[in-house]
Amino acid sequence: MFGAVVVGLGVAGSVRVRDMLAPLPGSAAEKLALKGFVSRRTLEQGGVEQVSVSDALSRDDIAAAFVCTENESHEETVRQFLEAGKHVCVEYPMTLNYKAAVDLWDLAEEKGVVLHEEHIELLTADFKWLKEKVEGQKLQEGTLHFTGGSLKPRFGFLAFSGIARLTWLVELFGELSVNKATLEDDQSNGYSKMTAHLLTADHRPLTWIEERGPGLPRAKNVHFKFDSFTLTEVPAPASRGAVGLFMQDLVLFGAKLEGHVPRATLQTEKTRILHCLSLAQRIQDLCQE
Ligand code: NAD
Repeated sequence: MFGAVVVGLGVAGSVRVRDMLAPLPGSAAEKLALKGFVSRRTLEQGGVEQVSVSDALSRDDIAAAFVCTENESHEETVRQFLEAGKHVCVEYPMTLNYKAAVDLWDLAEEKGVVLHEEHIELLTADFKWLKEKVEGQKLQEGTLHFTGGSLKPRFGFLAFSGIARLTWLVELFGELSVNKATLEDDQSNGYSKMTAHLLTADHRPLTWIEERGPGLPRAKNVHFKFDSFTLTEVPAPASRGAVGLFMQDLVLFGAKLEGHVPRATLQTEKTRILHCLSLAQRIQDLCQE
């Protein structure tokens, strides 16, 4: 068994607590035992012990940490737990700059522990549907336009906070490069819009837009033009599935802790995560030039 703590009890952290208290029977999620949670507020959480970060770092019965705070504090918290020789599951994005992510990965390898970045967007029914549709197709050009409410404070630049959309694009179309990127930012009205012009390996244009502002519906609009058809809609999934997305991610993290995920799979995942973070960094740099 791997004793674990959850750091940050917001939306994601509360789901982590819930899932570890009732793991999917017969799955690797059962290998995690919730030992406590870290919060800046004093909270009652179903009999689970509230612990300080320093306790969590030093206790021998705590082997893993779930980092579920706002994006801005991920890097520092992940580093502390890795330094202490603990396994880490961090909600995406791991960091708000590329170089820090490379350093954290090196640190995890040096310490011989698992560093896992959650990517529930790849487990969704709409992503699986898209992946199947796109398989074997030749893209001519495409756009992914995400809209949502104003970005919460401490979630970082749009290219990082929206890494889930970029991860979709990379998983669907392979490694990308950044051609151009621009930002419209009206902070006083909580509005921001990032437009990144990307290129696939065979120079097909892909545009990624993250647009956030008060009252904007949470939606992903796609327009992917292939040789034989154009995809403009992802149908709403018929059902939400029997196993929740965070639970599926917990099972994956548990399997990594048990050493049941092949080395090649881990390497492919790491390459994709660092590639996406390097694109996000390049987009941010171009927007801020
Ligand atoms: P949230 O704002 O609901 O939760 C963040 C929590 O962390 C807050 O309760 C805050 O008080 C707490 N916190 C901040 N600093 C802390 C500290 N030093 N010690 C203890 N607690 C601290 O945000 P969220 O939606 O749960 O998102 C958290 C992370 O999960 C983000 O990285 C986000 O990208 C990722 N994520 C969220 C979802 C989702 O559905 N909400 C999905 C995928 C990934």
